[in-house]
Amino acid sequence: MGLERCGGCGLPVYVRLAARWNDDGTVTGRFVHSTRVVQIYSDELDFIFDGLAERIGFDINRIIVEGERKAGLAFTAPLLGRWRGLPGAVARNALVSRFVFGFVARAGKSAGFGDLRVTGYRRNELLEITVSDSFNPAILAGNTLGSFEAFARKPSRVSWERRADTVVITVEAGGWEDRSDEDRLKPRLPVVLPGRYTVERCPRCGMPADLGRRYDFDLKRGIATEVSSGRRIVTVMIDSLNAVFKELESELGEEVGDMIVALESDYAACVADVPAGTDDD
Ligand SMILES: [Zn+2]
Repeated sequence: MGLERCGGCGLPVYVRLAARWNDDGTVTGRFVHSTRVVQIYSDELDFIFDGLAERIGFDINRIIVEGERKAGLAFTAPLLGRWRGLPGAVARNALVSRFVFGFVARAGKSAGFGDLRVTGYRRNELLEITVSDSFNPAILAGNTLGSFEAFARKPSRVSWERRADTVVITVEAGGWEDRSDEDRLKPRLPVVLPGRYTVERCPRCGMPADLGRRYDFDLKRGIATEVSSGRRIVTVMIDSLNAVFKELESELGEEVGDMIVALESDYAACVADVPAGTDDD
């Protein structure tokens, strides 16, 4: 199993590093406590975003990227600013900054985003990530952009293209200086309902023992699957999804909310029609 997994329950250490399973039933980011994460089916997000684009009649990737950028920025900036900015000072150091993005790429693999590799890097200028078995590229690109901006402390732009079986995401500094209205989209947290969440925990790492049984993490490929159905799941920040939906709503109008609800029920109906384990690509 090596160092990347808990010797007790087999969960990837990055899952534990990234999130804390609280006794009130919520899951929060370990470092930035206002962040909450959730496991969601990978194809569910594709279904909703593709469905929205089809109904509206134009490409919504730019809006998804913008929502994710703000969420990524909101997540990374406080992280780098803790302890009087010490983590930021260390992380931005010329010698370690490339390593930091390597760490982030590995965390992304544990989250099930695909096999991410940093394939190009110039400090504060350029970041290129090549992804095999990529999760939704617009989400990934937006999030990478937000983290890069928090890191480089300047507006940047992102693009991506499919090359054979991979997606190549490129972030370059500059170009978006005219961007305004930075606060229009503050990620909003769902209400925390008080409750008790007493589950059997792994004696070694303290994570719920059920997680290791319910999900299978292929750390080499960066693919996580639900054991019972064989379906791919990803671990995402709730704030980042809310940020995208909020961005869609502010750009396209409130009808977007109704469309998402309709698409969700279409999706649920589709999934119910497919026997477990056969809808995986
Ligand atoms: Zn464990």
